[in-house]
Amino acid sequence: MKKFFLKKFHQVVSFGDKLIIANKNGEISIRNNISNKEILSRLAKQGIAEKDLKKTPFFDDLLQINALEFSEQPNELRNELFFQYLGMEPLGESKSKNILVFGGGGGGATLVYLLGQFGFTNITVVDFDMVEKSDVEKTLVYDMQHIGRQKTEVLKEKLSDNFGIHLKTIESKVRNCEDLMNIISIASPALVINAIDPGPAHKLNLNKVCFEKEIPFIYMAYSYDQLLIGPFLIPGLTDCYISYDNEIKQSKDTELGLSAFHRLDLEGLYHPSISFNINTLASIVLKEIIFFFYQEYHKISSLNRLVTMSLIKMDGVSLEMVCEDDCTCKRLQQKTKQIKYEKIT
Ligand SMILES: [Zn+2]
Repeated sequence: MKKFFLKKFHQVVSFGDKLIIANKNGEISIRNNISNKEILSRLAKQGIAEKDLKKTPFFDDLLQINALEFSEQPNELRNELFFQYLGMEPLGESKSKNILVFGGGGGGATLVYLLGQFGFTNITVVDFDMVEKSDVEKTLVYDMQHIGRQKTEVLKEKLSDNFGIHLKTIESKVRNCEDLMNIISIASPALVINAIDPGPAHKLNLNKVCFEKEIPFIYMAYSYDQLLIGPFLIPGLTDCYISYDNEIKQSKDTELGLSAFHRLDLEGLYHPSISFNINTLASIVLKEIIFFFYQEYHKISSLNRLVTMSLIKMDGVSLEMVCEDDCTCKRLQQKTKQIKYEKIT
């Protein structure tokens, strides 16, 4: 039987002779007595039938501020409550959309874990490495007992044990555009997350493949004390990463772009990384992904822009992607001239 429940994100506080229920729509206060406390307790836990609620004088007031839900089973998922609090429905079937994550290192592994924890059920991770001691030191995902094991296998185990999710894994290096094309063709994702950095040309390759296949994607990385969030690019909606390549060429006053950079992997040199950067980066990207699946594009902070953020200074700057008119991304926008755009303009 359907009943009325107090929406679970509410808190009820007592303040002198009042009991107060508040949310962003308003505040209701009623007399602080045993009978009212009992009614609120029943509303929260067992629910109250419509006919009984009508006997309760402040029922209409609670309805006015949208504090009640009418259901058989109130929403129990804590993650979803947050979105209910924002006035949004549960994500539902979008949680089973296929998400492909490149990288099971610090950022990638943490993000895969967070995606599973939130309830996304169809995740594929691509990685080739084994867990090392440094992974245990900088992430919350890997433990000492995992050292020497394949990262993909450990992640699979973790998501299965904690969330009952079957993580799909691809043990592969990503060396060139062909590798990317193969993996993306096999996984056929609704969204790609890039958490690897085999070299600057890789990001251009990913841009090329995803725009060709019209798959939305987001880059995530950290560089020394900077978090690099985005750009979150949606073919047909946003511009593309070629804009960033052109930016580099202009700033260096040369025709050499990202593809001309090659990192020398000198043994004994390590990129410094720290847990608070990794965890914050993955958490922000999770938020971007959730709002992407809600199609609330105006809430994706990195949509069409690279956000560079320092936790030391607690500030950030962003660089908008602005491509030339003849870029593939612009042609795609013309072709798909969209309803989707209305969401962000
Ligand atoms: Zn472009």
